[in-house]
Amino acid sequence: SLTIGIVGLPNVGKSTLFNALTKNDVLAANYPFATIEPNVGVVGLPDERLGKLAELFSSEKVVPAPVSFVDIAGLVRGASKGQGRGNAFLANIRDASAICQVVRAFSDPDVLHVEGQVSPADDIETINTELILADLQTIEKALPRLQKEAKVRKERAPMAVAAEAAFKVLNDGVTLYQGGPGADLDLGLLAELHLLTTKPFLYVFNVDEAELNNAAFLDEMRALVAPAEAVFMDAKIESELIDLPEDEAMELLESTGQTEPGLDQLIRVGFATLGLQTYLTAGPKEARAWVIPKGATAPEAAGVIHSDFQRGFIKAEIISYDELMAAGSMTAAKSAGKVRMEGKDYVMQDGDVVEFRFNV
Ligand code: GDP
Repeated sequence: SLTIGIVGLPNVGKSTLFNALTKNDVLAANYPFATIEPNVGVVGLPDERLGKLAELFSSEKVVPAPVSFVDIAGLVRGASKGQGRGNAFLANIRDASAICQVVRAFSDPDVLHVEGQVSPADDIETINTELILADLQTIEKALPRLQKEAKVRKERAPMAVAAEAAFKVLNDGVTLYQGGPGADLDLGLLAELHLLTTKPFLYVFNVDEAELNNAAFLDEMRALVAPAEAVFMDAKIESELIDLPEDEAMELLESTGQTEPGLDQLIRVGFATLGLQTYLTAGPKEARAWVIPKGATAPEAAGVIHSDFQRGFIKAEIISYDELMAAGSMTAAKSAGKVRMEGKDYVMQDGDVVEFRFNV
């Protein structure tokens, strides 16, 4: 499954964040693997549409889309040269589909900073450097083989060229996610090398409460990591929010000038970073969000529910969530002609409410 790997220097608030994320574990019953690995957490994608659908269909329960996070410890300065737990973390990062770096921006003098001072820019560079060094090693090792293959098999030539170009980008201290597009580099050609820095990145800035509303500071941090997304939160407050009843949590949140918990933002941004979207189903049993890649067709979407649905796909009855809500009920939507019959070439849209017709 698609997971987001959480990395960061020691003492930046990774565990605090991860524990807060996974405490909110509404999905455990539906995704039992959530509790198997202590460093893996599966959380629900916040989606207020599901609650509304459940009302409309009198559904017994709501099943949000799962988003998996894995807490990857051990990435410290010098890790690529075997410092700390050495290269053990690399395998974990390789398995992740996106990398989420937690960056310390809070100033608490009681919490030791491993580098001696709080500097988000330096910490980001430290982590990037380790990932970049790991990729440079991978390419250095593969390049002689790729160059040899390029001479014998013409179709392999673009790979050697791409590897050489990637090496240049990395050698300038830039990740392939950030620098690849500008270097006119087809990263798809390098898929077999499982490079770390080609993965999409996102950043969580763990900030003091006072900074949450400091627009100039937030803009500065956003600029630092663009085109990657930035999420800002006070991990300490987030872990308190989790323990409060909903109304008190809302009150605490509002007192910090926020309208949504930082954790919810992180889950949403993480999900989007993975290039995913959801479609919805609803009935008396459950209102549910299903995960598909952007661009998935109707039969592919059906296959996420069951492979039989894809194999026997006939058509899909589809209405957008907004149109369904405007109509007030499925019956009203149908008699108003708002429910479309879509065939096997239909490309799914986020928020489509769907019923599949299929042969078994
Ligand atoms: P990790 O090593 O990155 O997993 O960091 P931890 O989550 O263990 O946090 C290290 C220390 O920093 C702990 O004592 C936390 O309570 C504290 N901490 C984490 N987040 C915050 C925060 O947002 N503000 C403050 N003041 N302390 C924090």
